[in-house]
Amino acid sequence: MPEKRSGTQNRRDLPQGQEVSELLLSVYHYLENAYGDLGWWPADTLEEMVIGAILVQNVSWKNTVKALSNLNRAGLLNFRALDAAGVQEVAELVIPTRFYNMKANRLKSFARHVTTQYEGVLQHMLQQPFEVLRKELLAIPGIGPETADDILLYGAKYPSFVVDAYTIRVLSRCGIIPEHVTYEELRAWFMAHLPHNVPMFNQFHALLDRLGNRVCLAKRPHCDECPLQEVCDLRLQERTLSQS
Ligand code: SF4
Repeated sequence: MPEKRSGTQNRRDLPQGQEVSELLLSVYHYLENAYGDLGWWPADTLEEMVIGAILVQNVSWKNTVKALSNLNRAGLLNFRALDAAGVQEVAELVIPTRFYNMKANRLKSFARHVTTQYEGVLQHMLQQPFEVLRKELLAIPGIGPETADDILLYGAKYPSFVVDAYTIRVLSRCGIIPEHVTYEELRAWFMAHLPHNVPMFNQFHALLDRLGNRVCLAKRPHCDECPLQEVCDLRLQERTLSQS
């Protein structure tokens, strides 16, 4: 969805340097002061966390929870059971997540990998070294960088920053980053400008998700209730226009 751009969003490159680190930390503190500890990832087990990360792509968390409940009732919230289940059965249980055939195939691919390579024990897979595990996750059919980084950060507890469409929308509207940036560029930029701290990465992604999901909406952002209005270019631009 094309969005309004402020003047500074036309920059082609991601900004660099100590000032960026300070700005990101101030964004983090504004959000944390407003929303507190969001306690991500909401899951009772590691397997539920990973299955949720696969299912949540391009769908709301509310619908993901419905699919997780269906899988739980069917005894399929673990990879050994998922590997043994038929793909059609899994697809019917994850219908609330929209692209259910694709999601069922992704769950089955992941389950096959865990079952064949780790005898079904997810914890053993997540004990691989950070970069080895990231490469391995990205090689599983249907696992993209956002899902891989969710699993690395919230499952394996590695400092792998997760970015998503909300991150880009919020920070580009604030004038901090350009609107058109790739996933890997943006992730590397966060990693270069923040201390590699797992609880902070956990919370920062959750906070940006909260803001993008409930306040900085695609069509009509609720700027009056936004904790970032003091640092947001789009907000400042709108204020200037309304005063002129
Ligand atoms: S002030 Fe408005 S445009 Fe800026 S981040 Fe907040 S909600 Fe989004």
